[in-house]
Amino acid sequence: MEGYIHSFESFGTVDGPGIRFVVFVQGCPMRCKYCHNPDTWTFGTAKKYTAEEVAKNALRYKNYFTGGGGITVSGGEPMAQAGFVTELFSRIKAAGVSTALDTSGAMFDCNDVHKFDALLAVTDLVLLDIKHIDGERHRELTGRPNDNILAFARYLSDMGKDMWIRHVLVPGITDDDKYLTDLASFIKTLKTVRKVEVLPYHTMGVVKYASLGIPYPLDGVQPPSAERVLNAKKILGVIQ
Ligand code: SF4
Repeated sequence: MEGYIHSFESFGTVDGPGIRFVVFVQGCPMRCKYCHNPDTWTFGTAKKYTAEEVAKNALRYKNYFTGGGGITVSGGEPMAQAGFVTELFSRIKAAGVSTALDTSGAMFDCNDVHKFDALLAVTDLVLLDIKHIDGERHRELTGRPNDNILAFARYLSDMGKDMWIRHVLVPGITDDDKYLTDLASFIKTLKTVRKVEVLPYHTMGVVKYASLGIPYPLDGVQPPSAERVLNAKKILGVIQ
């Protein structure tokens, strides 16, 4: 099976445990205002690779996957190319290497919860990015609701799948203490959260918007202060 791939990173250290080979797929249904990869949004563009080709490429680095490392598929949105990622992860796991899925959960379908079971069966860890705990604010921030995303988190918890919850901290949008407290309460209801990560908003993607001719939605918003990051970590129970 073939997948649309945006790019590869051979020695990733921020998308899951240890040293990882990261595959960035092309195509995402969300439009997060802070997205630093708007060049991954459009579907059906970018170069196509077979799962076999990607697996072979990634496994060349197998000896470097120290500290619990392995392969992460990120994006874009990996669950939008579930068949391709399922075959890729099957090949990776057959080689004895661990797999992580970095997803927004936006493709999860509450009316067809088993749709992604084959993919999850070959996924060791889900890195689930919860963009906003409040439904309305989530829609404003990403263009989509969060009901199915929260349902996905519950589904992972119920099936015993390990997950990391990630939350991008954006001043004035996601760093309100009430929202952080609500998010912390939601996370506490989940049984398989192994780590919570606070990712401070940054402006490194702004230049991409300019080159794509897209107005930057968060123009003027500055990264959070160290104090606000620490505050969020405390509320979300992040262990330093
Ligand atoms: S889900 Fe990720 S890739 Fe998609 S728009 Fe949001 S930040 Fe960008």
